[in-house]
This record gives sequence, C-alpha cells and structure tokens, in this order.
Amino acid sequence: MEEVSLELLKKKMQDFVKERDWEKYHTPRNLLLNMIGEVGELSEIFQWKGEVAKGVPDWDEAEKVHLGEELSDVLLNLVRLSDVCGIDLGKAALRKVQLNALKYPAPTKTDDHTSA
Ligand SMILES: [Mg+2]
Repeated sequence: MEEVSLELLKKKMQDFVKERDWEKYHTPRNLLLNMIGEVGELSEIFQWKGEVAKGVPDWDEAEKVHLGEELSDVLLNLVRLSDVCGIDLGKAALRKVQLNALKYPAPTKTDDHTSA
C-alpha cells in the first residue's frame, strides 16, 4: 500500500479537481465553508451519544466506517484549502507544534505533584 503523506493527498486532490474542471469553484472561501460543513457532518456522528470512550469500542463497523469518511472529508478539505492558499501545511503544522511546546512547557520533575 502507498504511504500516505500530506503531499500525496494534495496531489490526489489536485488531480481530482482538475479532472472535473472544478478549479473555478475551489476558492479559499468556498473551501473553508465546505470544510465547516464537513466538520458539521463529523459532529453529527457524535451528537446525542453522550461521552464516547476512546477507540469507540461500542460502535459498530458501519459507524466506524462513517467516522473515517467524515474525518477524511475534513482532512481533504483542509489539505485543499491550504494548497489553494499557498500554505505548506506539513511545515506550518510542525512549526505550530514547536510554538505550542514553547507556550505550554512540559512540567519538570519538581513540578510534578503526582510523584512522591
Ligand atoms: Mg462528508
């Protein structure tokens, strides 16, 4: 199986859009609004379920497949939006992880009140 990367997803989305002549519709604003719609579809899966355990052990296979589809819709829209905006999403995300680590430093051993 082909290894999945943001670059591969970006290329697949570019090909998909080009084959359908959809470039004219893929403006940043349209893509953002579409992604928000997909986040809504993802949210609907969790709506009214109460808290859900990690790994969703109580969900049947069809629900898990549906979850994977909606997560993918959000990711593919985000990848496409980033591409259309000229943002290298992988690079930007790695930088953001570093910024978050500076903003929220991990506690040192002396700050850790859970250990004796
Ligand atoms: Mg969807």
